[in-house]
Amino acid sequence: MKAEEILYDGCRQMGILITDKQIEKMMEFKKIVLDWNKKMNLTSIKNERDFIIKHLLDSISCLTIDEVKNEQKIIDIGTGAGFPSIPLKILLPETELTLLDSSSKKIGFLEEVCRSLGLEKIEAIHGRAEELGQNRDYRECYDLVLARAVAPMNVLVEYCLPFLKVEGHFVCQKGPRLEEEIKTAKIAIDTLGGEVKYIEKISLPFEDLDHKILVIEKVNSSPTKYPRKVGKPTKKPM
Ligand code: SAM
Repeated sequence: MKAEEILYDGCRQMGILITDKQIEKMMEFKKIVLDWNKKMNLTSIKNERDFIIKHLLDSISCLTIDEVKNEQKIIDIGTGAGFPSIPLKILLPETELTLLDSSSKKIGFLEEVCRSLGLEKIEAIHGRAEELGQNRDYRECYDLVLARAVAPMNVLVEYCLPFLKVEGHFVCQKGPRLEEEIKTAKIAIDTLGGEVKYIEKISLPFEDLDHKILVIEKVNSSPTKYPRKVGKPTKKPM
């Protein structure tokens, strides 16, 4: 099967419509990531088929969540090479997207991606979630926060929940041990104003992988002391 067909068929299996133009953009994104990956460390997945399934389709699987919609203000914390948000932005062009990563090289890479793909209403910021979460231009400004493979849940909610407006949602992609992580993070979730809404089990097309997506709703404002200073959430998780 050709790369384009795997992508089209994978989307269809998840009930997601993708146009030829969007497939073209996804392929261009794949090419840029794999080209840049030769000179900097963006991903360990170099095989085309795996890239489409484990990066593109895995990112796109967030669209099976009702809380992920067009015309939202979204931030992707620790986006790395742009997962999950660049594939989502291609499918939801009317979203207003902030990409955040603590690696300046990755932000340079993402700026090039945005230029090459002609993406609009998007900004890439080099910084730490602990700092930006205390900046009033970003704090409690977003409808949706995304994060994939960034930190354990008890740390991650301190990074992510301060960015959400009350009634906004945190959509987080995790592996099979999610329920245990939620137990450990219960105090942090409550303290930061979150409430676990539901867990969605994701069957990735063409793969036998157990993925889960957690949806947390922000029901109360986050206390101003959170997020704590850089490094504190990981050294002393709540
Ligand atoms: N989300 C991407 C993915 O799923 O492929 C990247 C995952 S990578 C394992 C984690 C990324 O989070 C790295 O690019 C790292 O620089 C970034 N990161 C880690 N801690 C961070 C923090 N406190 N603030 C901002 N970015 C952070």
